[in-house]
Amino acid sequence: MSGRVLILGGTGEARRLATALVGEGVDTLSSLAGRVADPRLPPGEVRLGGFGGAAGLTAWLQAHPVRAMVDATHPFAATMTASAAAAADVTGVPLLRLQRPGWSAGPGDDWRWVDSLEDAAAAVAGFGSVFLSTGRKSLGAFAGLAARCLVRSVDPPEPPLPSRTAVVLARGPFTVEEELALLDEHGVDVVVTKDSGGPMTAAKLTAARERGVPVVLVRRPPLPPGVPVVATVEEALDWVRSR
Ligand code: NAP
Repeated sequence: MSGRVLILGGTGEARRLATALVGEGVDTLSSLAGRVADPRLPPGEVRLGGFGGAAGLTAWLQAHPVRAMVDATHPFAATMTASAAAAADVTGVPLLRLQRPGWSAGPGDDWRWVDSLEDAAAAVAGFGSVFLSTGRKSLGAFAGLAARCLVRSVDPPEPPLPSRTAVVLARGPFTVEEELALLDEHGVDVVVTKDSGGPMTAAKLTAARERGVPVVLVRRPPLPPGVPVVATVEEALDWVRSR
């Protein structure tokens, strides 16, 4: 059997895991969706692009044996996560889900939880200036909004977009000061975000609290049953070492 470990990536955790495994001399292949024009590449070998659904990943694993697979994709990358679970079932490749914990509100936060992007769009319908921090692929659900909307992304967002959208091209992480300046400059009166969790994108939540701006949070999709889950890179490293 190959000693190779496949990491389904696209997150900081996936990069940190690849860095640690490569540092331990483990043959590591990171897979990225290839959506960002200029992705931050992890060390070790990298492949780009989809596998072709669960069947495609199954066939790929049969052609390219690995000793273990870590699904370290983003908490909202539900299609890839489902494909990984299905392909692991069929091939018997051990699979671990590495997913950072979600956010929880603290004193002073005005958070409003919703189940979907569509529900988030309904929740902000009465506001005048909306910071849509849900990712550039999630904007279609907000296309009908009449409010001023602010979108920030690494690459330009694709239509459909709300009719009055200002786009800021930037790559995080951002400081609380930068987020405060952004909220102030655009007169933002509500923020919409997915429950991505982790510190990398949390400064906007602190800034919203400081300005008394409510935050609409989209709950995470459920995880596939039967797949072990860890929250930290260190736990994922232990799991890989034990394979
Ligand atoms: P998704 O909806 O679950 O995936 C859509 C399709 O993209 C998958 O079916 C798969 O194509 C391909 N794909 C996704 N992740 C892949 C990977 N690591 N390697 C190879 N193919 C992959 O995922 P998404 O929400 O579009 O996210 C795409 C990438 O961006 C992921 O790597 C994710 O970690 C990262 N990301 C997502 C978000 C977010 O908010 N969703 C935020 C930050 C980073 P096939 O079916 O053809 O295999």
